[in-house]
Amino acid sequence: MAAKRVQKVLDDFYWIMAREGMLPDSNIFLVKDRKQFVLFDAGIHHFFKDTVDAIKELGLELKQMDRLILTHTHLDHSGSTPEFKGRLKDLEVWVSEEEGSLLEQGDDTIVLGSMLGQRLPPIPVAKKLHDGDVFEVGAYSFEVLSTPGHSAGSLCFFEPNHKLLISGDVVFRHGSFGRVDFPTGNGKVLIQSIERLASLPVEMLLPGHMGIATKDGQREIKLSLQFARQVL
Ligand SMILES: [Zn+2]
Repeated sequence: MAAKRVQKVLDDFYWIMAREGMLPDSNIFLVKDRKQFVLFDAGIHHFFKDTVDAIKELGLELKQMDRLILTHTHLDHSGSTPEFKGRLKDLEVWVSEEEGSLLEQGDDTIVLGSMLGQRLPPIPVAKKLHDGDVFEVGAYSFEVLSTPGHSAGSLCFFEPNHKLLISGDVVFRHGSFGRVDFPTGNGKVLIQSIERLASLPVEMLLPGHMGIATKDGQREIKLSLQFARQVL
């Protein structure tokens, strides 16, 4: 199968598009850090090879990847983690405190493995992220936001200098937002998380599914908040 499509978002910052159809998959964001790079989300395991091909298309080699940061552990976002870990033994996996233990223990309920036909083996977690943590990737400085509701350990990553938000499955474009009917989902809690995101000066909205918004991200989030308040 051909590589996934890749689009440049900013300098050293790329969007590897989800290949969604019969199977769910997630958007992946690749950020370069000198000779290395980091992925935000891994995508589902069925498309692992296509993701590697997309990385190669950017002139990078898989061995340059040093961190995999997960917005949350649902398999459409985390399913390729064992493949990455299998090829890169020093790869660091970062995830929220709440969902880190699921990866470490191996889990097929909360990560929706039984639904999507894959059992995640236990995966070592190098860093468990908390609200307010800040970390750098190349020229970018990300703030960790704990944004539960879609799942208890869902994280968003806000980069204030570039006004961009990696929003996982919390908010999507066009007023859409994450499902709350999976284990640990909670509609009221999701609304609170979206309220918090709506207060941020977001220009670029980079969600886990569907398209990205390169401007007016805050307006997109406010639209999601409006719809979420109506239906949740
Ligand atoms: Zn999800």
